[in-house]
Amino acid sequence: LGAGTYLLRTREREFGAHNYAPPPVVFQRGVGVWLWDVEGRRYLDMMAAYSALAFGHAHPRLLGALTEQAGRLALTSRAYANDRLPMLLERLCVVFGYQRALPVNTGLEAVETALKAARKWAYQVKGVPAGTAEIIACQGNFHGRSIAIVGLSSEARYRQGFGPFPPGLRCIPYGDPQALEEAITPHTAAFLVEPLQAEGGMIVPPSGYLARCAEICARHNVLLIADEVQTGLGRTGRLLGCDHDGVRPDGLILGKALGGGLLPVSAFLADAAVMDVFQPGDHGSTFGGNPLGAAVALEVLDLLAETRIWEHAERLGAELRRRLAASQAPCVREIRGRGLLTGIELAADGPSAARAAELLLTRGIATRDARGNVLRLSPPLIIDDAVLAQAADTVGEVLGILSA
Ligand code: PMP
Repeated sequence: LGAGTYLLRTREREFGAHNYAPPPVVFQRGVGVWLWDVEGRRYLDMMAAYSALAFGHAHPRLLGALTEQAGRLALTSRAYANDRLPMLLERLCVVFGYQRALPVNTGLEAVETALKAARKWAYQVKGVPAGTAEIIACQGNFHGRSIAIVGLSSEARYRQGFGPFPPGLRCIPYGDPQALEEAITPHTAAFLVEPLQAEGGMIVPPSGYLARCAEICARHNVLLIADEVQTGLGRTGRLLGCDHDGVRPDGLILGKALGGGLLPVSAFLADAAVMDVFQPGDHGSTFGGNPLGAAVALEVLDLLAETRIWEHAERLGAELRRRLAASQAPCVREIRGRGLLTGIELAADGPSAARAAELLLTRGIATRDARGNVLRLSPPLIIDDAVLAQAADTVGEVLGILSA
């Protein structure tokens, strides 16, 4: 460990809250798919900030949009309109096929927004008695860290000590449409689901799962809300994770990559029948819909349309998983994922995925583990064939060493 790393880590430990384990490395600079630590060592970024960096670090077009807008007008709050936000709202609605969009900042806030909309919709439109609306989510989910949202989590360590939680929240097994059918009651407002559970351990549901859920929700007048904070915007090899099943959810949640890795931008999209339950004063945020975020998000949507980067993600993801499978390390239990969202599950009695991530870091690959002894590989979508092939070989090599 270099002196610079040591001092920075010590300072963070001394003055920062301890809500994260001590980080293994201190980064200083990022360009494209590469990161440099304070010692000047280079790493391949196979985390992409939990999938938030679709176009990599310091993309010139995104930086250009950011600096140009920052110099003109960065923040007004929604007390006033700004000249960038209406363009973003229109573009979101046109690209994703909805009548209304509500901009907020982080993924968590967009999920909260969706749940508030669903509850008020249940009360006002569906006729569910006040204060009795129910939300169904899935075991193994990750939707964020607020009290309401950890109230929906099935993870004991996210919940322990943080209760009481709001009533009307429950979890059912992921990937099982029959469980949804059985869980719905006349009070159910919405079913909240991830098209692929990334934080939960890169769990890919059976093909057709979302389509079955959509049919069940429609039959019971329950909103299907897709949390595409991580899977959206090309990550899984389609523009949206729901596209794998040909499903258009009643509510769509976007975040992470929408801000180009430069600032938090998220949104909840729905049709007027749902979104118009919000009246002036019901919901909002000082920074939500700010012109800076809108300018960057518009540029992200331009880049997506011009590059169709999801096709690249689809092809490279398949190639990555093929290469990993060919390396056949004995400690590997399963390799799974979609597009550039890949998980390598290691045998429960084998080496830990956290240990694999540690070893990879010493070989210049930055990644972490996900739940269930899974090593995650989620590089920026702009990664090229040669760099990814090299990374796959290094991962195969490390898993081979750990198996020995
Ligand atoms: N939903 C999903 C599916 C996520 O993966 C995450 C973040 N990992 C969130 C919501 C929360 O987003 P944020 O950290 O921006 O609040």
